[in-house]
Amino acid sequence: MSAAADAVRNADMHCHSTISDGLLAPAEVVRRAHANGVDLLALTDHDEVGGLAEARGAANELGMGFVDGVEISVSWGDDTTVHIVALAIDPDDSSLTDGLAQVRSGRDARALEMAAELDKVGIHGAYEGALRYAGNPALVSRAHFARYIAEQGLARDVKSVFDYWLAKGKPGYVEHTWATLEQALGWIRGAGGVAVLAHPGRFRLTGKVLRSLLGEFKEQGGAAIEVVSGAHSAQQVNEFARLAREFQFAASRASDFHGPGESWIDLGRLPALPEKLTPVWQLFL
Ligand code: AMP
Ligand code: MN
Ligand code: MN
Ligand code: MN
Repeated sequence: MSAAADAVRNADMHCHSTISDGLLAPAEVVRRAHANGVDLLALTDHDEVGGLAEARGAANELGMGFVDGVEISVSWGDDTTVHIVALAIDPDDSSLTDGLAQVRSGRDARALEMAAELDKVGIHGAYEGALRYAGNPALVSRAHFARYIAEQGLARDVKSVFDYWLAKGKPGYVEHTWATLEQALGWIRGAGGVAVLAHPGRFRLTGKVLRSLLGEFKEQGGAAIEVVSGAHSAQQVNEFARLAREFQFAASRASDFHGPGESWIDLGRLPALPEKLTPVWQLFL
């Protein structure tokens, strides 16, 4: 495919299923993406590759391109959580799967702590409530807490639950240590994958700190950043396009879809990548 055609293909390199905190099963995510016109999809559940075989099977049936992915939770600097999307990995690579298991292992204790903090502000039963929404209890996340709190009628939607209770600095937020950047990039490299910095506009970093993250990510083997993201404004798309060119990162296009009615943007319904960027899928197709 020519570079021009490649830039306008409907690739979506980041989304979630019920294997982590999405609302649709892996095969349903694939069918929805296909119905939305996606021609190349990566499923990137948080810290877990367990949905990839089902998703790939569904994509093969539809004749749609599919990329094995995972979104790894990383602690960077003093107290910043960042997400690294790994694309075109070997999902059976044992150092990757062992590493992911290690990242997942802290979630249950963290969830108990979150529930204890929420209990103090009058939100009771949140641990059990969140677990009801978590398909896989090992992957209980703030998204599952958010659904439980919204179900209690305590916020108008899942997004505002974060603003009041779950975002950093709010009562239900508990500090947590995930993988290091070096570990995550090592696992990805070992599994033959490409490392992409997810939704850099969501980390609320100052320009200086953002540049130091980009520099470190590059130095340790990071290959791309999400330029077009469901989490980015049009202005942020331009900002990250400039930074991708400056740091010579490939560019990803990524909805970060979690479920109907719960996401900024639906699968594949994203603007095209800005010009003069290398689409990340050129690195592995
Ligand atoms: P965790 O990995 O448990 O910290 O949960 C992070 C997940 O919560 C993200 O992957 C999103 O699905 C969701 N999330 C985080 N912040 C927000 C927000 N402001 N609005 C909606 N969902 C969010
Ligand atoms: Mn999520
Ligand atoms: Mn993320
Ligand atoms: Mn995500």
